[in-house]
Amino acid sequence: MNTDTSSKLFEKAQKLIPGGVNSPVRACKSVGCDPVFIEKAAGAKIYDVDGNVNIDFVGSWGPMILGHNHPAVIAAIKAAIENGTSFGAPCKLEIDLAELVIDAVPSIEMVRFVSSGSEATMSAIRLARGYTGRNVIVKFDGGFHGHADSFLVKAGSGVITLGIPGSPGVPQDIVKNTISIPYNNLEKLEETLRDADLDIACVIIEPIAGNMGVIQPQPGFLEKLRELTTELGIVLIFDEVISGFRAGLGGAQDKFGVTPDLTCLGKIIGGGLPVGAYGGKREIMEMVAPVGPVYQAGTLSGNPLAMAAGKATLTELAKPGFYEELDRKATEFGTRLLSLARKHLGDKVCMNQAGSVLTLFFTEGPVTDFDSAMKSDTEMYGRYYREMLQEGVYLAPAQFEGMFISAAHTADDLEATLKKAESVFIKLAK
Ligand SMILES: *Cc1c(COP(=O)(O)O)cnc(C)c1O
Repeated sequence: MNTDTSSKLFEKAQKLIPGGVNSPVRACKSVGCDPVFIEKAAGAKIYDVDGNVNIDFVGSWGPMILGHNHPAVIAAIKAAIENGTSFGAPCKLEIDLAELVIDAVPSIEMVRFVSSGSEATMSAIRLARGYTGRNVIVKFDGGFHGHADSFLVKAGSGVITLGIPGSPGVPQDIVKNTISIPYNNLEKLEETLRDADLDIACVIIEPIAGNMGVIQPQPGFLEKLRELTTELGIVLIFDEVISGFRAGLGGAQDKFGVTPDLTCLGKIIGGGLPVGAYGGKREIMEMVAPVGPVYQAGTLSGNPLAMAAGKATLTELAKPGFYEELDRKATEFGTRLLSLARKHLGDKVCMNQAGSVLTLFFTEGPVTDFDSAMKSDTEMYGRYYREMLQEGVYLAPAQFEGMFISAAHTADDLEATLKKAESVFIKLAK
C-alpha cells in the first residue's frame, strides 16, 4: 500500500498541529503506524490521498450510521446552505430536530442543542449540580464523556490509549468532586451512592459502554442504578452520545426500558456535522438559561446546516425496519467474525457486540468492565489493525473503540471483510 502522500502531509501537519491531528486517537499511536489522510468518503468506502480505497468501519467514530454522503443528508445540507450558514438567531430547523429527538427518545421532554458531545456532557453535569445544589459526580472507570475537566478521571477512549491516568492541567480541586467506580459492579455502586457524606449530584453513565471497547450493562445493573438514584434524589444522566440512535431510534434507554433524568446526545444526531444535545425532564431542563439560572450558551448552537443534516438523518432512521435490518446484518457479521477469530486464535480473542457496534478484544474474556478490558493484548490489536489496513479494511486505530457497521455496508462489503479478516487471523496465529 503506497502512503507517500499521506506521509508527506503527516510530516507537515505535525509541524503545524500538535501530533498532526485535531483529536489524539487519529494519530494511530497505539497501533504503531502513521495515519492516512482522507480525501473523500462515500457509502461504506473511504478513500485516502494516495488513492487507496478502504471499507470503513470507523464511520467517523459513529455518526455515519447511514454511510457517508447519504443522498438525503447531502440534499438537506445543500438546501440549507443556500439560505446562509449561520444566523445566531432562532430558525425553524431547530424546532424540527427538537421534535424528532423528543419523539424518539423516551425520557426527553425538552432538549438544548450544542455543538459537540463534550459540550452536552459538561452542560448536563452543570445542570444536575444546579438542580440538586450538590457537587459530586459519579462516573464509571473506562467511561468517556468528552474532555471536560471533571471527566478526566479514569476515562476511556483516547485517554486509555495514551496511557495517561488523567491529564495535567486539570485542577485537583475539580477532580476531587469526581468519583469513578467500576462498571457493572452492583455492590460498589450501592455502597458509593448510599454514602451520605458524598453530596452526590449525579451519576453519568454510558448505558452501553463504548469507549473501553463495547461493554453491555449486565442484566439488572441499569435498573438498580435507576432505583438507587431515584431513592436518593440523585440525577441520573445517560451519556448516549454513541448509543443514541445507534442501539435503536430511542437509544439504549428505550432498548432496556430504563429512563434517565437527563440524556446526552452527539455523533449520529448531527448526521456528520457538529451537533450535541442534552435533554430530559421538563422540570430539570427549565433550570437552563434563559428560563432558569443555569447558564449555558453557544454561538453556533442550533446551526442551520447541522440541524438540517441531523433532521435528514433522523428522518431516515425513523423509517420502518431500519434498525431491524441493520442489527440483523451486523449480528450475522459479528457472529461470523468471532467464529473465524476463534477458529484461528482460540481463546486469545473474545467479542462484545451491541447491535451495529462491536469490539473484538484480544483477550480470553469475558470483558465486563475496565479491568477486564485492559487485559487485551494491544500489541496484537495493533498487528490486526495494520494487517487489515493492508487488506483494505479501515478499523478504529485503537483497541478500546468500536467497529461500526452502517446501513451502507453491502453484503459484498461484509463478505469481503470476513475473507480478509480470516487471512489476517491466520497470520496472527503464527
Ligand atoms: C464521543 C463521545 C463524547 C464526546 O463527544 P465529542 O463530540 O467528541 O465531544 C462523549 N461521550 C461519549 C460516550 C462519546 O462516545
